[in-house]
Amino acid sequence: PRGASLTDFAERIGVDVSSLVQMLFSLGEMVTATESVNDETFELLGEELNYVVQVVSPEDEDRELLESFDLEFGEDEGDEADLAIRPPVVTVMGHVDHGKTKLLDALRNANVVDKEAGGITQHIGAYQVTAEVDGNDRRITFIDTPGHEAFTAMRARGAQATDIAILVVAADDGVMPQTVEALNHAKAAGVPIVVAVNKIDKPEADPTKVRGQLTEYGLVPEEYGGDAMFVDVSAKSELNLDKLLEAVILTADASLDLRANPNQDAQGLVVEAHLDRGRGPVATVLVQRGTLRVGDSIVAGAGYGRVRAMLDEHGDTITEADPSRPAMVLGLTAVPGAGQTFIVVEDDRMARQIAEKRESRERAAMQAKRRVRRTLEDFMAS
Ligand code: GDP
Ligand code: MG
Repeated sequence: PRGASLTDFAERIGVDVSSLVQMLFSLGEMVTATESVNDETFELLGEELNYVVQVVSPEDEDRELLESFDLEFGEDEGDEADLAIRPPVVTVMGHVDHGKTKLLDALRNANVVDKEAGGITQHIGAYQVTAEVDGNDRRITFIDTPGHEAFTAMRARGAQATDIAILVVAADDGVMPQTVEALNHAKAAGVPIVVAVNKIDKPEADPTKVRGQLTEYGLVPEEYGGDAMFVDVSAKSELNLDKLLEAVILTADASLDLRANPNQDAQGLVVEAHLDRGRGPVATVLVQRGTLRVGDSIVAGAGYGRVRAMLDEHGDTITEADPSRPAMVLGLTAVPGAGQTFIVVEDDRMARQIAEKRESRERAAMQAKRRVRRTLEDFMAS
């Protein structure tokens, strides 16, 4: 891997970096843990460790695997005319205790209007709500999972999951380190930000101060002549949640062209997944393009199978899911990882072949790592 350091390498294979430094030293190479290392040094290390140093990234390898089946992840197919408006996908970011979870819950509950009392709302890690904007019903998808760090990692790989970020800032606390961190993440990813100035029910709330602070970080409120929408909310008192949803839609309309082709085989991301005792592997997926249907053959990470049933965020069964729609999928053979992709393929056989290749690769990588660890332990002990 170009520009990688021994530390990066050690992290990938799960060993202590100092043992790598010492091993290279014994081979006559002086390399520090953090400097970037050339390919020859890696190869030297590889020979010593009986480890095939991977020059190809796992992502490239997977792309090649899909290509060999004439598949590609991440492109809308068809003509311009096939593209239809899709809802924005939103994640909520912000400093700890500023109210991210409370806000996500409030938005979810406020929208579950036509559920009978006693009806169970499933926690599926993502949900859609409807907002009325200019007399039109507009849908918004929220990703609601503590695992959404996975999505930060995915962004680095170019698989964008989020269209808009809601930055939650508690008005009684103001801008804090993780506020700035979240802001920088969103900026780096080119994701527009809507600011939810939260906890305005508190007497000590100072929403003007929050505006001033964020202006200093280059996030200037519209009312100050900037282009970021700020909405004062209370997740606790469910105040101004409709305004927040409206701000999300207005921001999407103003700065994004959110369209996808629903008329193709579905592709998207795994938001979360777990093994259910009765139902087997259960994965919440976010459809990014195409339409996912019951009966489709899919491969998700190293899991595959035919979609046996799908549930929405209310626990109701659905037969299809269009772009930006989250759905709980039943029927996979294995539990995929959060942040992995899913893709619909021609038939079960193809799905199985791809999944098996992925699995054997994962297994080989794990065995190689184990071997390396053992070799290094022997070296350090000698
Ligand atoms: P997170 O760490 O960002 O997910 O924060 P939480 O949603 O867990 O909220 C942290 C604390 O702040 C909890 O005790 C919430 O009840 C409280 N909280 C969240 N939103 C509000 C609000 O709008 N007003 C008040 N007064 N408290 C809130
Ligand atoms: Mg939380």
